[in-house]
Amino acid sequence: MNCPKCKQPAIGFIKWARGTEAFKTKCASCGVSLKANIITIIGFVITVLITGVFVFFVKIYLDPELSKGFLKFLFALPIAIILGFVVFKVGGYKESK
Ligand SMILES: [Zn+2]
Repeated sequence: MNCPKCKQPAIGFIKWARGTEAFKTKCASCGVSLKANIITIIGFVITVLITGVFVFFVKIYLDPELSKGFLKFLFALPIAIILGFVVFKVGGYKESK
């Protein structure tokens, strides 16, 4: 995601995907305070919903034993990462006052 002020990359995907800094961070290039724009927030909600629905379908239609506990997160993780990367690419930041 690029900084709206200096147009340089504000944050890397790994750091962004770890969580809290996805919504509020400082630009790595110019240091301006940034917050997630509406596209990022909507994208995040969609990612959570799709991942949740996917976990639900694994549980219902595949082996319920297989989808217990930790394993269902193993199924959900690639989906969450792919969707997260799409959000990372289409989303953005705006300057926070
Ligand atoms: Zn910047």
